[in-house]
Amino acid sequence: MKKIKKLLPLVMVTSMIAATIAGCGGSSGGNAGATSEGGSESAEVLIGSAIYKFDDTFMTGVRSAMEGQAKEKSATLELVDSQNKQPTQNEQVDTFITKGVNALAINPVDRTAAGPIIEKAKAKELPIVFLNREPEKTDMDSYDKVWYVGAKAEQSGTLSGQIIADYFKAHKEADKNGDGIIQYVMLQGEPGHQDATLRTEYSIKAIEEAGYKTEKLAADTAMWDKAKATDLMKAFITGQGLDKIEAVLCNNDDMALGAVEALKAEGYNKGDSSKYIPVVGVDATAPALQAMKDGSLLGTVLNDSENQGKATINIASAAAQGKEINEANVGYPITDGKYVWIDYVKVTQDNYQDYMK
Ligand code: BGC
Repeated sequence: MKKIKKLLPLVMVTSMIAATIAGCGGSSGGNAGATSEGGSESAEVLIGSAIYKFDDTFMTGVRSAMEGQAKEKSATLELVDSQNKQPTQNEQVDTFITKGVNALAINPVDRTAAGPIIEKAKAKELPIVFLNREPEKTDMDSYDKVWYVGAKAEQSGTLSGQIIADYFKAHKEADKNGDGIIQYVMLQGEPGHQDATLRTEYSIKAIEEAGYKTEKLAADTAMWDKAKATDLMKAFITGQGLDKIEAVLCNNDDMALGAVEALKAEGYNKGDSSKYIPVVGVDATAPALQAMKDGSLLGTVLNDSENQGKATINIASAAAQGKEINEANVGYPITDGKYVWIDYVKVTQDNYQDYMK
């Protein structure tokens, strides 16, 4: 046993050195075109992608879109699970660079930790695309081969707030105590994630802009997670009493479904209209659309994993071939030379079927 343990690192180091030498031989500035014999057009692109954690419903959708698009583009995509640990992701980036990837596509664990990753890419002139977790502007501005693919979190907040406001307009009885104020609880995503902060803020803004006063009964993070959201919602129910809660706003669908579970355990949102509290989420995942069909979830907002995955691969593969990043080359409009913004879409009883696969 001991011997094997001692030997392993040596083997790893040797193969890493070999990979480094191989990488140095051909790769120049992440330009895959330069590595192919005779500089032919049919460059083979290798994209290294680290995802903050595989066990995330929305990112699972993005990953499968990336895989599909890589096939379309005849690019090789290597996806690794950063297991929600930034140091693990940093090591994965080092390994990709050692391997000689032509571009990086990174979904950071901690978006404020993008700086050191950008430095690593910059040192090798490798193009790097961030997705879903937006690096700080100063980091984005620190290198000319860095791009971001995501969606405007403010927009998703606004749309989810509008869904709640529209519900209250159509159902006067939803204001259970008749005080003209919407008493709500909020289940938030991971602290520090732009989508958690801005969805929370803009959903309430939209409700108020629609003419309602609001009162926050309770708010806390459930870390984007369904099981944590069930526990949190149970605590809210115990702390506030079901009669007081008039709306449940959730920063994503997994948490909305977790909250629905807690309500169902109390006999709510199961079909009896006198026992119903409107719940909204964001993402439009398959189980959320199913819950809309069942009537337990009021609404959601499409977070377009398909187009976010596609845009990420299109940019990584075009940049790896030294192409200019513009709409003609990547199929999506580029804002400020660096950003692709994919629109959110409001999903209600009127259109949810359009998004069921
Ligand atoms: C999604 C969440 C997801 C998170 C991961 C958000 O945009 O709405 O469902 O957990 O991204 O970073």
